[in-house]
Amino acid sequence: MIQIKQHWRLRCEHENIGFFRPATMTDPDIELPHDVLLGDDFSRRPGHTGEWPSQSTAPVPLDGSDAAFSPLQMGVVHDLDQLQSLLQQGIFRVLPLESMGPLEKSAGHECLVDAFRARTLHPMDDSAETAARLMVQLSKAGHNQHAVSQALLVAGVLSHVPVAELMEFEPQSQAVETLPADMANRLNVLPILREGDVLMVAMAEPMDAEHQHLIRFVTQCRVVAVLATKDDIQHAIARCYAMHSDSGDLESLAISEIETGSEEEEMRVWSEAETLARQAPIVRLVSTLLSDAVSRRASDIHIRPGQKTFEVLYRINGTLVSVRRLRRALLPPVVGRIKILASMNSSEHRLPQDGRIRISENGAGIDLRISIIPSQFGESVVIRVLARTADMRSLDAIGFEASDLARLRDLLRRSMGIVLVTGPTGSGKTTTLYAALQEVVRQNVNIITVEDPIEYELDNVIQIQVNPVIDFSFPKALRHILRHDPDVILIGEMRDYETAKIAVESALTGHLVFSTLHTNDAPSALVRLIEMGVEPYLIRSAVIGVLAQRLVRTNCPHCREIEPVDTLMRTNLDLGPDEVFWRGAGCDRCHGTGFSGRQAIYELLVMDKQLAERVDIGVSADVYRDSALASRMHSLPANGIKLARTGAVSLAEIYRACM
Ligand SMILES: [Zn+2]
Repeated sequence: MIQIKQHWRLRCEHENIGFFRPATMTDPDIELPHDVLLGDDFSRRPGHTGEWPSQSTAPVPLDGSDAAFSPLQMGVVHDLDQLQSLLQQGIFRVLPLESMGPLEKSAGHECLVDAFRARTLHPMDDSAETAARLMVQLSKAGHNQHAVSQALLVAGVLSHVPVAELMEFEPQSQAVETLPADMANRLNVLPILREGDVLMVAMAEPMDAEHQHLIRFVTQCRVVAVLATKDDIQHAIARCYAMHSDSGDLESLAISEIETGSEEEEMRVWSEAETLARQAPIVRLVSTLLSDAVSRRASDIHIRPGQKTFEVLYRINGTLVSVRRLRRALLPPVVGRIKILASMNSSEHRLPQDGRIRISENGAGIDLRISIIPSQFGESVVIRVLARTADMRSLDAIGFEASDLARLRDLLRRSMGIVLVTGPTGSGKTTTLYAALQEVVRQNVNIITVEDPIEYELDNVIQIQVNPVIDFSFPKALRHILRHDPDVILIGEMRDYETAKIAVESALTGHLVFSTLHTNDAPSALVRLIEMGVEPYLIRSAVIGVLAQRLVRTNCPHCREIEPVDTLMRTNLDLGPDEVFWRGAGCDRCHGTGFSGRQAIYELLVMDKQLAERVDIGVSADVYRDSALASRMHSLPANGIKLARTGAVSLAEIYRACM
């Protein structure tokens, strides 16, 4: 608390520092000048000791030239401790919403909204990176030069506003209680930390003055924004408020405490648990725990019994995160509820059991695999979440360059032709195909897929699972679905000549066909089709595009360090002698791996006249490659190096994936 107060007081003392003069005070509650935000950027200074300077803080220009500031200090907070410690170290300046008035006037509303978005979507960007992204966006939207230069200033300021990773964040309950649930829902904001009369609120677009005033009025707190993405806030609101509303019910449940006693006593506890397992508070608790895990994209749910309490943990991005601790008396009814859902034997408490639950979340089916093992303090449960939609991404989220995304979308708008996605196993082909299919769904067409296996369930799409055992093969299924009047066909994989032939024929008779092939790069897909026996003249007119992709592991944001790159590597990859690259050093958060998450890199080959003329038997992939490169294709390695330049991945990882 002290630190925040000091911060605010400091602003008062140095009110004449900054790019903007103090504006007229409009709110008597706030003892601050409104717009000192852009000034006295002392936290960026090299050798900043973590103390707020007491006097005469000279302004440091926000021109991004201050390279001594390490990107490690920017970025994402995952829990309250991190947020608090950042505040205390003074590394992040929080953004008082009251300052937005003059800033907005100067930079323009649109520009600020864009800046917020760029910052929440790319939380690890430093100011130079944020500015670069803004420049691209603004120049496309036709903003004038003045707006762009202001945007640079805004980017500089925003890079000091923490972005909260709400998926892993447990907000302070005292803060959550400050704002009623319906209001949090309506404004799509979530209070996460309250210290004194300062309330830190996660917001996606903290630009709405009316919202700010409402929150301030209702909570009687000064509101300070922490950025988070819109979707994350929505999920977090649902989760946090649900937990707060049911904790009262759970506390008041009358349950006998478990004590090891006679067999008779134990029987009584179990039968009581079975009754409770069917009652509302337990039913709600278990269903909240399950749906919360799904919405946070947890891969596993652990229910871990202890001596007096039991703990619920989620595995998110490979890390176990504690989400709730409940009194142990609640364990038998909770486990009982899970057994009921999974149709397991509820009277068996001494032997391990396995089971399955199928739940539906937002219309998508999700399989839960349950393993229950008796332990010394009660039954321990691990639930594996097989969310078929967990990896579902939109095309925008896959990581395409804007120009390539436009080229790909152009392919998707066509009414006929084959679009191939290639890459080794585990390169994210299916994710991309489904993202593409989701775009096509919007065009209100009849889409049929033939798959083995069906990896995701899609709305408004007829999905067919092939079954070799009953001789329901790809070619057989395809011949049938062609009589089912499809506009778009997805073929899980082209493995044989017959499948490829039907795909080509369908494409030439007015269908848009998606499929995958196992080749290392895009040009090789053309070679492979010819090797499979498809006539070159058919390929020329049927294939409209090939996307090759790889998944690369992204650097852990918590332990980024400069990656050593030797001279030979620099020469080979045509890198500048002073270009800086980053890698993860390995820390607790990434379990020493240096990685967190994955991202796609790709190359997109679009069939054009020059390329089509070259497609023939015996032509090598290099010839196709040269032709495609000549017409705007960026190769996998080139796109990879571009990504490495942003600091998101290491050069070594790019090298591993595509050299
Ligand atoms: Zn790390």
